[in-house]
Amino acid sequence: MDEGDPREIICALCRQFYDQGWVSGTGGGISLRVDGRVYMAPSGVMKERLQPADLFVLDEAGEVIERPQAEGLRLSQCAPLFFNAFNARGAGAVLHSHSVNAMLATLLYEGEFRVTHLEMMKGIRGVGYHDELVVPILENTAHECDLADAMARAIEAYPQSHAVLVRRHGVYVWGADWVEAKTHAECYDYLFEAAVRMRQLGLDPTARPGTPDNGKPRVTH
Ligand code: ZN
Repeated sequence: MDEGDPREIICALCRQFYDQGWVSGTGGGISLRVDGRVYMAPSGVMKERLQPADLFVLDEAGEVIERPQAEGLRLSQCAPLFFNAFNARGAGAVLHSHSVNAMLATLLYEGEFRVTHLEMMKGIRGVGYHDELVVPILENTAHECDLADAMARAIEAYPQSHAVLVRRHGVYVWGADWVEAKTHAECYDYLFEAAVRMRQLGLDPTARPGTPDNGKPRVTH
């Protein structure tokens, strides 16, 4: 793999994400912005079999400047969502995952995912162990492109967050470059899974250790 070629990087990452269950059934994916160009996979293709020649290349205004070699491929419905993070956050890479951990985490909370005092929070830029990590949760829509406006509002309302969850669907995660986006995605996914499993064990992922409840659910009499 050419470490510097964004087309190769996207294909290699999609294979990894497939093995993690993040992009199965053609869902999810990753987009990179390098030197004013945005690289993106087509809609509805098997992400684990993606080839460098299959990608679309767009300019920063969202216009397609290179098409895939194969005929009949359409641009991903996620394009406006990826561009939200490129434009509003100056992201260098945006990842969309259909991880079961992310999907289940959206069922535990109303409008915001919250956890605190978990070591893996430190993998998210700007977040410390004693902080509370918050990720907004959007309601899902029948068509992915219809999420774009709600996602843009959430990005503006939660300047500390590098992710937006979508109820019963998955998560969008970004970073300054693909390395940070991948790291963020792995840390967030760990935290989503941790919250789900803590709740299964009767523990409250938002409770601070040392407090009387110490992570255990409050008993009300
Ligand atoms: Zn999706």
